Amino acid sequence: MFNKISFIGAGSMAESIIAGILEKRVVTNRQIFVTNKRNHERLANLQHRFNINGTTNKENIIDQADLIILSTKPYDMEEAIDSIKAYMQPNQFVVSVAAGISTEFIAEKMEMDVSVVRVMPNTSASIGFSATAIAGGKHAKQEHIKLVEKLFKTIGTTTIVAEEDMHAVTSISGSGPAYIYYLVEAMEQAAVEAGLDKDVAKALITQTVVGAGEMLKKTDDPVRVLREKITSPGGTTQAAIETLDANDFKKTIFECVNSARQRSIELG
Ligand code: NAD
Repeated sequence: MFNKISFIGAGSMAESIIAGILEKRVVTNRQIFVTNKRNHERLANLQHRFNINGTTNKENIIDQADLIILSTKPYDMEEAIDSIKAYMQPNQFVVSVAAGISTEFIAEKMEMDVSVVRVMPNTSASIGFSATAIAGGKHAKQEHIKLVEKLFKTIGTTTIVAEEDMHAVTSISGSGPAYIYYLVEAMEQAAVEAGLDKDVAKALITQTVVGAGEMLKKTDDPVRVLREKITSPGGTTQAAIETLDANDFKKTIFECVNSARQRSIELG
């Protein structure tokens, strides 16, 4: 599929993707190249963990790479592109994981009609459970989109979306794990306050979240029906849901998603 995959930015997202593609044997470790700007310790750690090629030589990382994955933070993207564009060829294929950065921006900064595909994975990629959305840019070839699907299926599920929907995707599945973790944090604190041992609370809540996730995956019932099934009139769950409603839970979630989407738009 690929002879050489190069990562620009040796951070946590690069690490998750590398772990996935090596585990599924998409390429061998010697076919992966990675570079970083700051904190060379990070580059060395990644190199050591996976026995991949680490370099600070940008020409070397771009040369002969049939896939270049831009995995820096969005605010570092322009500088990262500037540092590699002199070595790029128009037939090279670029994937960006950066939130909010459009394929148009990348092609423009590269100053060539390079094939760019944008992806939005999430942190569950590190254990093979990412929900990754994929959008091809104006010059993206269909064969490249198919390859990206294959690649990102090694770290979870993939869904093709229109690029204009990427801001919404970022606010749902990109940032989404943090919303769930925040809910769990609050539930853990409430459980301890209610007298439960911290470890007992953690075990119960973790399995509750995993079980609810599996229910969502395995039943055809809409989520509303799943909730209603455990909300008996006059029961404990009803009392709990009424409290959420009285505190504008849904409105808060709408606003939370909207804030993330707006921030994604601003970053672009
Ligand atoms: P990170 O900070 O862990 O890693 C980014 C790395 O890029 C850093 O080590 C930095 O030194 C390096 N870098 C910066 N400028 C560079 C340059 N010019 N050349 C080479 N390397 C350079 O960030 P991360 O959490 O891995 O996120 C990377 C991208 O993934 C972001 O754009 C983010 O929007 C996207 N993303 C992250 C998540 C997530 O949950 N972490 C989810 C979806 C998408």
